[in-house]
Amino acid sequence: MIHFDNSYARLPEGFFARVAPTPVAAPRLLALNEPLAGRLGLNRDWLLGPDGLAMLAGNGLPKGADPIAQAYAGHQFGGFVPQLGDGRAVLLGEVVASDGARFDIQLKGSGPTPFSRRGDGRAWMGPVLREYIVSEFMAAMGVPTTRALAAVATGETVWRENGLPGAVLTRVAASHIRVGTFQFFAVRGDEDSLRRLTDHVIARHYPQAEGPLSLLDHVVARQAETIAQWMALGFIHGVMNTDNMAVSGETIDYGPCAFMDGYHPDTVFSSIDHAGRYAWAQQPQMAVWNLAQLATCLIPLMGERDAAIEAATRSVHSFAPLYQAAWTRRFGEKLGLTDCDKTGLALIEELLSLMARQRADFTRVFAGLQDGRARDEFTDATEFAEWEARWRAHHPDAELMARANPQRIPRNHRIEEVIASAVADDMAPFERLFQAVIHPHELRKEWAELSLAPQQDQIVRQTFC
Ligand code: AMP
Ligand code: MG
Ligand code: MG
Repeated sequence: MIHFDNSYARLPEGFFARVAPTPVAAPRLLALNEPLAGRLGLNRDWLLGPDGLAMLAGNGLPKGADPIAQAYAGHQFGGFVPQLGDGRAVLLGEVVASDGARFDIQLKGSGPTPFSRRGDGRAWMGPVLREYIVSEFMAAMGVPTTRALAAVATGETVWRENGLPGAVLTRVAASHIRVGTFQFFAVRGDEDSLRRLTDHVIARHYPQAEGPLSLLDHVVARQAETIAQWMALGFIHGVMNTDNMAVSGETIDYGPCAFMDGYHPDTVFSSIDHAGRYAWAQQPQMAVWNLAQLATCLIPLMGERDAAIEAATRSVHSFAPLYQAAWTRRFGEKLGLTDCDKTGLALIEELLSLMARQRADFTRVFAGLQDGRARDEFTDATEFAEWEARWRAHHPDAELMARANPQRIPRNHRIEEVIASAVADDMAPFERLFQAVIHPHELRKEWAELSLAPQQDQIVRQTFC
């Protein structure tokens, strides 16, 4: 059983389209996240039974579900599209956990909706399993993120360049409300709906916010924290369009995302990001760009126009110092520095430029600082040794470092191996990688291989969505 309470579906009709998932031919459970099910108060045995599987596949919905596709707009790579919306996702409803936390339960890859445009509404196993692993790793590292509850194979073929096995992801989020949701109403000049949306978001995510300007301040602050956490893990989202930025501050819409192996600030993986708009080092600027779009949507609700513009501008500009503080704190922790002052900041920057010059492995350098293994990641060890000596003089806090630095990340080449095996009906490599990355601080012999950087011929340079 599952008890839904669907606050979004109670909003006016223009916020969404009512649409049921399209049933699939032969659903088969690929993965179920039992700890997350527990967090949501969902019964494991029910989920594993016929009614549970039917729900996770979109083949049959429990009572109380009210499936909708949410409407939104968005800037895609800087170009505005007035109507996007859930083209391959359906929000089944919301569940409220025993502590009062509210969660969206959404199927991704569940068939066409009125927002599908030319798309088939489906997803193939690759992106479904990538999102499952990466989002759960992010959660394990304490990064605000949507979660993965289940992955189901559909038994149907999805046509991309080739025929690929289809899958449905069950995604859990604080909400799926995006910057683009605000843009959808703003571009239509629909102030009533904008006000309704603003009230809904405040009640749901920022009850302490006092109005649209205060809401903007809160979203800016949350995003500054989230993006700083991405940066500290070498994470590259890949498609930071305004329709892929959640106002809750959670990381959302994992597409061609990836973690860096060798460090360089200009790193890009996404095959569709030709100009490097969403490169690792661009992410904070792109967040500001997106937040400026949110500000533009909220200005009409803020009273006298000139004053509103000024206040909203100030709010967006508050990102920079908040982000800088969060970045310094996160990277300071990676170096074991509790109070990261100017010298600490200089140490971080020197290490990063040294790493960039030698393309040292981002994760392994930080994971190996404490016990001296980091040295092996540099081709020229003398420069590093000089830096290391100065860093040691600051008496780094080992426990702080151990918490901040994962021993392993879901590396691209491993994710691709796991996907290839899953396509060949072998889920064992998925399960192994999944367990290894949701326990990112544990050192176990059987996971040692998964902590290694890719060999030259294993490096994956491009990701596809
Ligand atoms: P994304 O870049 O994945 O966040 O998607 C951008 C927009 O395209 C969203 O409105 C998606 O719902 C839609 N979309 C992406 N893939 C598909 C698909 N296979 N079928 C229908 N709509 C899609
Ligand atoms: Mg999206
Ligand atoms: Mg997507």
